[in-house]
Amino acid sequence: MSPDATLNRVPRRPHLRLGLLAASQVGVLLLWWQAGWEVGLPALLASHLAVVWSTLNPRSQLFCPALSRLDPAGQAVWLTIDDGPSQDTPAILDLLDAHQAKATFFVVGQRARAHPELVREILRRGHELGNHSDSHPQTAFWRLGPGQLEHEIAANQRTLTELAGRPPRWFRSVVGHTNPFIAPVLARHRLTRVAWSARGFDGVDCTPEQVLARIERDLRPGAIVLLHEGARHGHNVEILRRVMALLAARGLAARLPGG
Ligand SMILES: [Zn+2]
Repeated sequence: MSPDATLNRVPRRPHLRLGLLAASQVGVLLLWWQAGWEVGLPALLASHLAVVWSTLNPRSQLFCPALSRLDPAGQAVWLTIDDGPSQDTPAILDLLDAHQAKATFFVVGQRARAHPELVREILRRGHELGNHSDSHPQTAFWRLGPGQLEHEIAANQRTLTELAGRPPRWFRSVVGHTNPFIAPVLARHRLTRVAWSARGFDGVDCTPEQVLARIERDLRPGAIVLLHEGARHGHNVEILRRVMALLAARGLAARLPGG
């Protein structure tokens, strides 16, 4: 298998997953009818718990496949930087250049249209773009229906295709949430969902020390590192500076997958 094929997680037969989910609920009802509530009720609760867990857990692949680490043989990690472009983007690009590092920027469509010059600069410096929805609906993403998801993903896909000359192949869910309707949309746009294996919760209130301690724990060859830019706490550039120092100390390179 080519290295590129191993990175491909575009959902196959995405409607089958929806069908199986519906069938599981019919199965629970049949069980309730045949075996009584003592069996039916726990089965119903367990199936709903599985749905909630899969929606909120970024690493769950029940609703939608995802890439959550790379081949460790390369002595490299994949830096992924979410939520831009932002006021941090120029400093981040300089920092990456200084370390000859490459990263994938999961940008938000509306922000890309507001600052196309930053997106062009990301590309000019040899980095890559990923789709991180059009409006970043943080609190509502998990409950969006098929039409709203299509809008969020397609509108950003159009923007980034226009700016880069080709469509992105990576998608990152907003706050890592997924639901049963995402897979068909990703399949339509030939997108692979990218999760992560190391993160420091740097999108919310934090100190660089806390973030680094969390990332350090999971930093190993093949890791997909989740970072953010433009957060209100203002530490994102400093956090990246320390991550770069940590990578250098461990002899790990920051490269794009397949590159
Ligand atoms: Zn985000």
